Amino acid sequence: MAGRARGGAPRRCPSCGANVIKQLVGDRVALKVVADVTPLTPEQQAEVRGPNRLIWCLRPSSGYAPDRLFWVEPWHPPDCRTGAHVADHLCPPAAPTTLF
Ligand SMILES: [Zn+2]
Ligand SMILES: [Zn+2]
Repeated sequence: MAGRARGGAPRRCPSCGANVIKQLVGDRVALKVVADVTPLTPEQQAEVRGPNRLIWCLRPSSGYAPDRLFWVEPWHPPDCRTGAHVADHLCPPAAPTTLF
């Protein structure tokens, strides 16, 4: 059993150190995606989704293929059973000492 290193292996965000998934998504135009590894509930997806933040369907590896991110189409169910839904990674705001 070798070759687990490609594709969906979590990496670290160089800015905030969070675990992220880096992957090229798309066939003709590859989009460089950096996504969080934490699956979101349908409510959370509706909350974070926006023009600058997309939701991805992370499908588990099958056989030799690594975990893959898939584009979530408008008709894609937010509670689909195929994969875990994750969002584009956004670094948390700096200065964690600031409380309000
Ligand atoms: Zn899905
Ligand atoms: Zn980050």
